[in-house]
Amino acid sequence: MSIKENYNAIKNQLPSTVQLVAVSKTHPASAVQEVYDLGQKVFGENKVQELMEKAPLLPQDIQWHLIGHLQTNKVKYIAPFIDTIQSVDSEKVLAEINKEAGKNNRIIKVLLQVKIAAEESKFGLDISEARDLFGKYRDGQFPNVEITGLMGMATFTDDEQQVRNEFLILKGLFDEFNQLKALNTLSMGMSDDFPIAIECGANSVRVGSAIFGRRDYSK
Ligand SMILES: *Cc1c(COP(=O)(O)O)cnc(C)c1O
Repeated sequence: MSIKENYNAIKNQLPSTVQLVAVSKTHPASAVQEVYDLGQKVFGENKVQELMEKAPLLPQDIQWHLIGHLQTNKVKYIAPFIDTIQSVDSEKVLAEINKEAGKNNRIIKVLLQVKIAAEESKFGLDISEARDLFGKYRDGQFPNVEITGLMGMATFTDDEQQVRNEFLILKGLFDEFNQLKALNTLSMGMSDDFPIAIECGANSVRVGSAIFGRRDYSK
């Protein structure tokens, strides 16, 4: 199927209340432009360098989301323009985003990335760390960021029940935080599991290969 057919098929499966983040990592700017021309404005990249190379080649009104681990020394490059950083996985990086947002006179939207997968994952906050950080945020420690929600990835497995259970853990935490301060984004679900994520309450999904095709990491 072509990118256009893929994109339209995904859009047709998404309720209108669910945001689509088109994950364009490893794909060239021309492919991003093609999806943009179909009406997509929100794109996700997982590496700062790749984002910095692509963004200048593409329309200014794209809302870029960073979805991969962010090193503190790279925050300054994206702070002027990034729409949302979905991958806040430490207090240190949140503090740096807060600092750089201030320098740029803006409030940067972020999601806390929470570890929900059973498999050993390198990045993401434990639930207790997420609670702790959200508490500090509510106490006013990070005035130049807005925590708009949570992001998580389920275990890569065929066991749907396990995937569902993991998504429901994040939905539970989202509801808990949402009682304390209104949130709007629960980002979970990728090409292989987004329908389950939506059943579990996701209102934002990050879909790459189902739109752009398989990624070729050999390049
Ligand atoms: C690559 C990536 C995605 C998209 O994965 P696909 O399986 O290609 O849809 C979503 N979220 C994160 C954090 C990613 O790194």
